[in-house]
Amino acid sequence: MRFEVVIIGAGIAGISTAYSLQKKGISNVLVVDRAGVNAGSTNRAAGIVSHLFTAKLELGIIKNSVRIFKEIEKESMGHFSYHQIGMLSVGRKRHEQRLFRALEAMRETDVSASLLDKQGIKELVPDIIGDDLKLGVHCMESGYLDQALFTGVTADLLESRGVSIVEGVDVHGIIFGRNREVRGIETSQGPIASDKVVIAGGVWCKSIGERAGLPFHVSTQKAQSMTLLLQKSMRIPIFFDLTSKIYLRPVREKVILAGNGSKLYRGKIDNYPSHAESHFINGFKLRLSSRFKHFYKSKILDAWSGLYCSTPDGRPLVGESNRVKGLFYLFAFQGLGIMFGPGCAGLLSDVIVGQGSGEILPFRAERFVGKPDRRTIYPKHWSGRK
Ligand SMILES: Cc1cc2nc3c(=O)[nH]c(=O)nc-3n(C[C@H](O)[C@H](O)[C@H](O)COP(=O)(O)OP(=O)(O)OC[C@H]3O[C@@H](n4cnc5c(N)ncnc54)[C@H](O)[C@@H]3O)c2cc1C
Repeated sequence: MRFEVVIIGAGIAGISTAYSLQKKGISNVLVVDRAGVNAGSTNRAAGIVSHLFTAKLELGIIKNSVRIFKEIEKESMGHFSYHQIGMLSVGRKRHEQRLFRALEAMRETDVSASLLDKQGIKELVPDIIGDDLKLGVHCMESGYLDQALFTGVTADLLESRGVSIVEGVDVHGIIFGRNREVRGIETSQGPIASDKVVIAGGVWCKSIGERAGLPFHVSTQKAQSMTLLLQKSMRIPIFFDLTSKIYLRPVREKVILAGNGSKLYRGKIDNYPSHAESHFINGFKLRLSSRFKHFYKSKILDAWSGLYCSTPDGRPLVGESNRVKGLFYLFAFQGLGIMFGPGCAGLLSDVIVGQGSGEILPFRAERFVGKPDRRTIYPKHWSGRK
């Protein structure tokens, strides 16, 4: 059987690409996953959608993702919801310039946000311990989602519209034609024909690319999160602390999800352990207690870890290979794949259908070709990378 487009990976990136293609009238699409929908990092994320960016390009992509979340909310008739509860990002004097620039970029892109002083922060989050804080930016459009539900609901909608989603099929390689153009994929269940293949396999993209002769300049990061049960309810929007890199969001009454950035991971990617490290479990609650009342006596409900890819400039890899016609890629979102994935998938689908999109030029993988492999420089706009 021949498909117009084959997508490798049924995480938020792959499913969102199929969704954007279907919206453009292309339903003869196959999404193939070696494990299943939501089997990768998508299932491990905190689900936070932040607007704390200083570049308009990133803000535009986040806005597109939010538009898609709201679309799916409608199309699924409320089975999935985007929780637009706002986000407070706080910092000390040294973070002033960054917060000002982010606020300016938000205003220029019509994202509603306001600047708060110490008193304003305290009014918004009465339980904060914030004498060291100087200012905060409160963005009303930020929110959170259950990203696994979003991806699952979208996959169901796509299947009902004729898109094929096949689970438990491992992609072993790309099939090329005489002129190294894409002809399909080789899988554990035999070849599948298509002239357009999208690599959206999360942290596995590097090895899929290598097998196709396409080197991707990425490193792997490990991030950890936990959920905690508080003894008392706490009024808080989504919260990001530039000083300690702590982020948190409400889950339900008295339950908070929290985490704090990532570190370089050099271990095996297949079957890597999903449990959190003991020093994170033992130490992170104390760090939360130094920023908020009530955390000291909280109970950890769950703690886990996950992986994601990172690029030297902190921007994702989105585009079509300039070496192999018909080979597209969409990954390396750092810790931002939930907020970036659907928006970037929309831009990539324009390229796939030949409508072009200059907007993704800064995200093309070729930007690193010929450059020495530097230590990863972490993006300034997000959490605790060293
Ligand atoms: C602890 C943690 C917290 C995070 N919090 C946030 C957050 O708050 N906000 C945010 O925006 N982002 C967050 N992220 C980042 C986010 O989870 C990722 O960027 C995003 O999930 C990546 O999605 P993906 O679809 O690219 O990859 P994945 O979800 O990993 O999907 C890739 C899929 O490809 C499949 N696959 C791989 N190789 C093959 C193959 N050879 N054949 C067939 N299938 C294959 C896998 O089985 C997998 O299902 C967080 C990440 C972690 C770990």
